[in-house]
Amino acid sequence: MTVTRSDAIEQLMALARDSEQRAFASHALEFLTANTELRGPQQSVWGIGDERLTLFHETSDEEERAEAAAALGWQKRRWEAGFGWISGPVEHGGRGLSSEFDRLYRQIESAFEIPDMSPLRIGIGTVGPVVTAVGTPEQISKYVVPIYRGESVACQLFSEPAAGSDLAGVRTRAVRDGDDWRLNGQKVWTSNAQFADIGLALVRTDPDAPKHRGITMFLVPMTAPGIDVRPLRQITGGASFTEVFLDDVVVSDRLRVGEVGGGWRVTTQALAGERKAVGDRTHEITDRAIAMLAELATRSGRFDDPQVRQDFARIYSRLRIARFQQHRIQQIPDDRLSGAERAIDKLLVSTNLRLLGELAAEILGPRFVVNTGEWGTFNWNKWLMGALGYRIAGGTEEILKTMLAERVLMLPKEPK
Ligand SMILES: Cc1cc2nc3c(=O)[nH]c(=O)nc-3n(C[C@H](O)[C@H](O)[C@H](O)COP(=O)(O)OP(=O)(O)OC[C@H]3O[C@@H](n4cnc5c(N)ncnc54)[C@H](O)[C@@H]3O)c2cc1C
Repeated sequence: MTVTRSDAIEQLMALARDSEQRAFASHALEFLTANTELRGPQQSVWGIGDERLTLFHETSDEEERAEAAAALGWQKRRWEAGFGWISGPVEHGGRGLSSEFDRLYRQIESAFEIPDMSPLRIGIGTVGPVVTAVGTPEQISKYVVPIYRGESVACQLFSEPAAGSDLAGVRTRAVRDGDDWRLNGQKVWTSNAQFADIGLALVRTDPDAPKHRGITMFLVPMTAPGIDVRPLRQITGGASFTEVFLDDVVVSDRLRVGEVGGGWRVTTQALAGERKAVGDRTHEITDRAIAMLAELATRSGRFDDPQVRQDFARIYSRLRIARFQQHRIQQIPDDRLSGAERAIDKLLVSTNLRLLGELAAEILGPRFVVNTGEWGTFNWNKWLMGALGYRIAGGTEEILKTMLAERVLMLPKEPK
């Protein structure tokens, strides 16, 4: 049965639960239909075009900048139409609506063709919400509002060579100098730093205090003298991440986010947002991947193998479960979400990405590691290598499992 345009619009309108949401959804649909197209069915023709099996960007610097510009352009249009900062405070230009409206808009917008918004993910999903919650009115109007207006890209300067899972171990130092602070040190794995305007940096302000109490958060303009951003090339070929060196970077005390020594609380809030974002984006990618693997197994005659059939069914079921879990999370208001739901979502998604890659290897055999030039085969190894990154991003699997074991299942704490 073909779904007509008016059926699709009707289905999107049905997502609204009451008259206020219906008015909002109708306004959103008016904006979207006037500015972009409904997405067609995600069917790709076997053997034609890019297989799109990379999980991280494999684009050149120029292409990445163009993607960032397109994302900023779309965010600007959202802002002008009143959908740029739906749950943001009215005094700063937001709509002041609950996060349910945010979610409703995202659900409706996902049915339309829009640019890849991942260059803005950290700004909109992490930096914006945290600075709005903890920062000063000046920080919000000067640094957060531009993110939602589509004028600024933000990055997250947390991880360091010796501080990743144990973020409270950061060593980048900030030393008070009158009304300013001088920052020295190195950050690593920073996504988007190559084109970011502002970074949210966790640094050590008191080396003598207990480690969780001696750290502080700052907003750092990425054009400040002393900042050096160097690309990091990943195993799959692209360079989505960077190292950021800070050499005597001067930052005003007005850019301190929260109390001196209060950086840990700000970090915890930021990480909750990051974990949520990881699960949000991937279901569409996994739906496409499982459909490709079904086609690949059929074409290769591998569905005759009972082990392949068994593994395929297992992964298919896991993908459905991950989707249901996400629907469940979407029904919970943001302020009632605990870290547990987000951790489970992230664990389901990252494990599924890895299992899809392993199933591809099982179906392909030697074609997984030897490039025969055949479409939809060899590039699966890029998928599997990229899946390893998802195990780490947004909190490693081991750390999240320990968190669930100790705080949700109330198992004895691991020995320190
Ligand atoms: C795709 C991607 C994007 C990223 N983007 C950013 C970014 O924009 N900004 C940023 O600041 N960082 C970013 N990161 C970095 C990321 O947050 C860290 O890689 C992550 O926190 C893990 O830290 P680490 O790499 O230092 O590993 P480590 O913390 O050194 O861990 C190494 C291994 O030891 C395990 N381990 C460590 N401690 C324990 C423990 N107590 N119990 C059990 N196992 C343990 C870990 O699970 C892991 O398997 C990104 C990473 C990835 C992969």
